[in-house]
Amino acid sequence: MIAKTKGIKDTKNLTSRLPAIRFTKPEYLYIATSNARCAKADLYIKEGDHVDSCQVIGMRHGPFFEQPIHATCSGTFVGLEKHYHRNGKLTDFIKIKNDFKDTLDKSCFIRTPEEIASLTKEDMTQILKDCALVGLGGSSFPTYVKFQTDKPINMILINGIECEPYITADHRLMLEFPYRIMEGIKYVMQAFKCKHAKICIKSKYKDIKEVYTQVIKEYEGSGIELCCVGNFYPQGWEVEMIKSATGIQLKPGELPSNRGIINFNVSTIVGLYKAIKYNMPVIKRDITVTGDGIMFPKNFRVRVGTSIRDLIPLCGGYKNPDKEKVFILGGPMMGMAVPSDDCIITKTVTSIIVLDKTDYQEEPCVRCGSCVLSCPVHLEPVQIMNAVKTLDKERIKKLNPLRCIECGLCTYSCTSKINVTDYVRRAKLFAKL
Ligand code: SF4
Ligand code: SF4
Repeated sequence: MIAKTKGIKDTKNLTSRLPAIRFTKPEYLYIATSNARCAKADLYIKEGDHVDSCQVIGMRHGPFFEQPIHATCSGTFVGLEKHYHRNGKLTDFIKIKNDFKDTLDKSCFIRTPEEIASLTKEDMTQILKDCALVGLGGSSFPTYVKFQTDKPINMILINGIECEPYITADHRLMLEFPYRIMEGIKYVMQAFKCKHAKICIKSKYKDIKEVYTQVIKEYEGSGIELCCVGNFYPQGWEVEMIKSATGIQLKPGELPSNRGIINFNVSTIVGLYKAIKYNMPVIKRDITVTGDGIMFPKNFRVRVGTSIRDLIPLCGGYKNPDKEKVFILGGPMMGMAVPSDDCIITKTVTSIIVLDKTDYQEEPCVRCGSCVLSCPVHLEPVQIMNAVKTLDKERIKKLNPLRCIECGLCTYSCTSKINVTDYVRRAKLFAKL
């Protein structure tokens, strides 16, 4: 698996040295009423209402939890409008006309160092719940739920590995905001009364290594260290990261907290810092707009709710505009294709990859076994595919597709250009029935 994945073409150099351009003043912003974890919502505003930035304007409801919906600029609620969500589905979005005043809701305030020092884990859990912080690396898992673990934590891991090709949003965030990351880590250490934390990066990120080697010296005695891990894909997957950083091998399905470990993506740590320090939800995030289909790939810092259509002209438009494009939200390995650029940046969109569409012909499976050798969780993707094709539900369940982390390696390695991952995704749906 490792030898193969080292061969994935690294396309990060398109943007890794470019600072994030601030684009925080689009005319309209669009806030999703639903997401993968919360299918329904109640709105607290009506058309024509004024909203302040960070104001709670509704509540999403899911089977396990609720999630406040925050306005990401000040302005006027225009109405609901359908656009594509990162999951590729047309979704209702709350359309807000920006008044460009950026009036902050009164719920935002600055906590003094003394107030922060007095916060308990339970206090922080409530703050993170109210601020609706989720895993910003793409998982969208609610951070407050992670905080609710009652297991003792003796190691905090911060994931700055960003192992998917193309994406450099976390890379820039780490270079540009090291102190927010360090302070955010200190808050987590305080909450869990934990004395050790490691910031995990790929060993080839020399620029990040230089910055953090220097910054960590200012935090001498804090217990925070830098940890350089391997340069392969999927090193950023939590199981691989934990193994590299601590030597602990999680069992399939085992939670890191079971071994005294808790882990967060670097963007989530910056979100956590703002929630604790300013009582602020995530209203902005860093993203990478890149790919062979775009003139000038760039990193941006944008408001959550920005339309991709507003960013394309800032990248010089499309290269070969006559050619049909493919849009991928997230990385090329684990991301989702959306049908058009009429798509909105939600909290968990890390990147937009624009590619010229190339038609290729899927060929019959030659039973080469590449997909099996590539699978980091030791599944048999080809067998799962065959079971899906024959709708053999019993066999599908026996092949454990639910353990799939959707890393995309089976598709990447397939000799016959078959989208094997797509079959495994379908198998997961069957297995849940
Ligand atoms: S997508 Fe799933 S089945 Fe395919 S290699 Fe990755 S983990 Fe294995
Ligand atoms: S990699 Fe493709 S061709 Fe090879 S066994 Fe798997 S599905 Fe078949």
